[in-house]
Amino acid sequence: LVSRMRGFGTTIFAEMSQLAARTGSINLGQGFPDTDGPAAMLDRAVQAIGSGANQYPPGPGVPELRQAVSEHRAAHYGLSYDPDGEILVTVGATEAIATSVLALCEPGDEVIAFEPYYDSYAASIALAQARLVAVTMRPEAGRFTFDPAELRAAVTPRTRAILVNSPHNPTGTVFTRDELTSIAELCQEHGLIAITDEVYEHLTFDGVEHIPLATLPGMRERTVAISSAGKTFSVTGWKTGWVCAPPELVTAVQTVKQFTTYTASAPWQLAVAHGLRHELGWVAELRAALQDKRDRLMTGLAAAGFEVFKPAGTYFAQTDIRPLGFTDGFEFARRLPELAGVVAIPTEVFYDHPARGSHFVRFAFCKKEEVIDEAAARLKRLS
Ligand code: PMP
Ligand code: GLN
Repeated sequence: LVSRMRGFGTTIFAEMSQLAARTGSINLGQGFPDTDGPAAMLDRAVQAIGSGANQYPPGPGVPELRQAVSEHRAAHYGLSYDPDGEILVTVGATEAIATSVLALCEPGDEVIAFEPYYDSYAASIALAQARLVAVTMRPEAGRFTFDPAELRAAVTPRTRAILVNSPHNPTGTVFTRDELTSIAELCQEHGLIAITDEVYEHLTFDGVEHIPLATLPGMRERTVAISSAGKTFSVTGWKTGWVCAPPELVTAVQTVKQFTTYTASAPWQLAVAHGLRHELGWVAELRAALQDKRDRLMTGLAAAGFEVFKPAGTYFAQTDIRPLGFTDGFEFARRLPELAGVVAIPTEVFYDHPARGSHFVRFAFCKKEEVIDEAAARLKRLS
């Protein structure tokens, strides 16, 4: 293994899902739903396979999906992207993130990301031989946020991009317009690119709405916006994502993407096009159901003795384990199967400064009510 990838080992999601399987624990670790996406969309995938959509689709993605993504961005956010030249379909958001960083960052460039951050960011930046500069999000009045002065201080002459994930995994924060404005100002002052990971764009609660950074003045032309069908339609295994950006940026990303996968699987693309066009009512129901599940899990976690941070988006709840008498989230997560028959993710692994996150543990609530209730009952054993 090349030196720049040493230390990445096995991802925490694989490790914790294996732990859940081995111990028969309830898996509230890796974020994947335990129910399927909209039936008509699943049927569309079957139909696509049955009707010959089984050879290489065009490199940028099947035209139907690029058109549907374009219509979706316009309808929801008033953003206009040309399906021919400004939209690229990828193998999930993961490939979009990796190819964007590889296409846009030179060795030695710095990429700012907000920690705790989704684990693929550090690996993608390392592959590009660039450097991740972490700005820490901290709880303030029950919600994780960052200090704009700290963000400003993180910019150097080597800074190339800011990677923004909102709604934010793992804290559940949905960035406010003010937070986004402080990012946008820096991008414009210093000529930075924004790479926005918006995979949880539709999973927001209590009337909070996702604001794409590209909708802020001056940002569309410097933003690489990334999304994925996995979360929106509860099909994480379909690995169908996309990039929306100005032509020069999309061309750069596509140049790399040609040689990572060339193109993404055809049947899922046709089905996701159908989903974006016809199944957003289903997504509204998913969002309402997830809000109930969030409240159910939060009640259970609070009753078990955790401090819980109420997420405004995503399907993760962040907790502080110190009220339970624990300080080391890694040790806690590894012992949780034996202590309570539940698996969760130690948030510490998403930090460059692990000490800042060692007492946080993340629980997923994209699970059936009875699963959440059973997990909550088991977690009571901790108190
Ligand atoms: N970004 C974030 C913040 C995520 O939580 C995930 C999780 N799955 C991804 C990207 C990857 O998305 P995909 O499965 O579409 O590659
Ligand atoms: N995005 C999911 C999570 O954060 C899992 C993704 C993965 O397994 N790589 O839990």
